[in-house]
Amino acid sequence: MEKNIDWGSLGFGYMKTDYRYVANYKDGKWTSGQITTDDKVVINECACVLQYAQTCFEGLKAYRTKDNKVVCFRPDLNGERMEQSAARLEMPIFPKERFLEAVKQVVKANIDWVPPFESGASLYIRPYMFGTNPVMGVKPANEYQFRIIVSPVGPYFKGGAKPITLRVPDFDRAAPRGTGHVKAGLNYAMSLHAIVDAHNQGYNENMYLDSATRTKVEETGGANIIFVTKDNEVVTPKSNTILPSITRRSLMYVAEHYLGLEATEREIRIEELKDFKECALCGTAAVLSPVGKVVDHGKEILFPSGMEKAGEITQKLYDTLTGIQKGEIEPPKGWIFEIN
Ligand SMILES: *Cc1c(COP(=O)(O)O)cnc(C)c1O
Repeated sequence: MEKNIDWGSLGFGYMKTDYRYVANYKDGKWTSGQITTDDKVVINECACVLQYAQTCFEGLKAYRTKDNKVVCFRPDLNGERMEQSAARLEMPIFPKERFLEAVKQVVKANIDWVPPFESGASLYIRPYMFGTNPVMGVKPANEYQFRIIVSPVGPYFKGGAKPITLRVPDFDRAAPRGTGHVKAGLNYAMSLHAIVDAHNQGYNENMYLDSATRTKVEETGGANIIFVTKDNEVVTPKSNTILPSITRRSLMYVAEHYLGLEATEREIRIEELKDFKECALCGTAAVLSPVGKVVDHGKEILFPSGMEKAGEITQKLYDTLTGIQKGEIEPPKGWIFEIN
């Protein structure tokens, strides 16, 4: 049944939909998993997730193409990444094949919540897993729940993307041999203070440096970063404490294979920022958000692309990747996953 929602005015938030997917892990194996209407999770008060934050998650979208197919963008990579996150947190693997099947089931069940093509809105999909049995001493749980909830979300940028301002914070995001490369809730818990502080000071986001030397650019709390050099080369920081964004990996491919640009992953020193002409954040939620300015302890670096609109290459990358996602541009093999 069609939903009575003003798709165009949706923001990015939780909305309770009709169905969610749930599978439980007990006695060393996953149950078959099912679609349910119950939006409550009832767990013991001493559950490992509550005491020691044993949880990881993923984020992807389903949306309608012009010819009204419902599709996801490279969900196999989300499944793979969730396997890696689980392994790092001593959680059982929810196999990526089952992950894909679960995504399919939960989107199909909620098909009326997938916004129409013209709205620019989409259905955000949030798979997550957490340790459920009581644990007091520090050790992994032995019972878990894997769950997928979905929520319709608006077009991230209503009426064009305005460039944002980042600051270089005094807080670190990820330790050199820590968990920065996995999508763990704990990485976000510790970023909350830094983000609230950034907002209080009038900045949109934090641009974290490598915590070992504090000389190299890493990423923000929830998005990777790309830069464009004056020679139109697209560069992105190389570091094993950065979360491997699927959007960023796709954009680097698009830069090279669709736009004929050089695309390089390498270490990027904070002193190099002044030499770049464009900067943007990338992730599933916004695809690409242009950055106009970075403030490093009072020193302002204003990118030549300015504070009014996205830079030329950023815009081309955005148009090409979203064109591929919407089915207007021929995708590389395996990038578009059909739900129905
Ligand atoms: C999820 C996430 C991203 C973006 O990854 P995508 O796969 O592109 O959505 C970037 N950085 C961090 C820290 C993240 O958690």
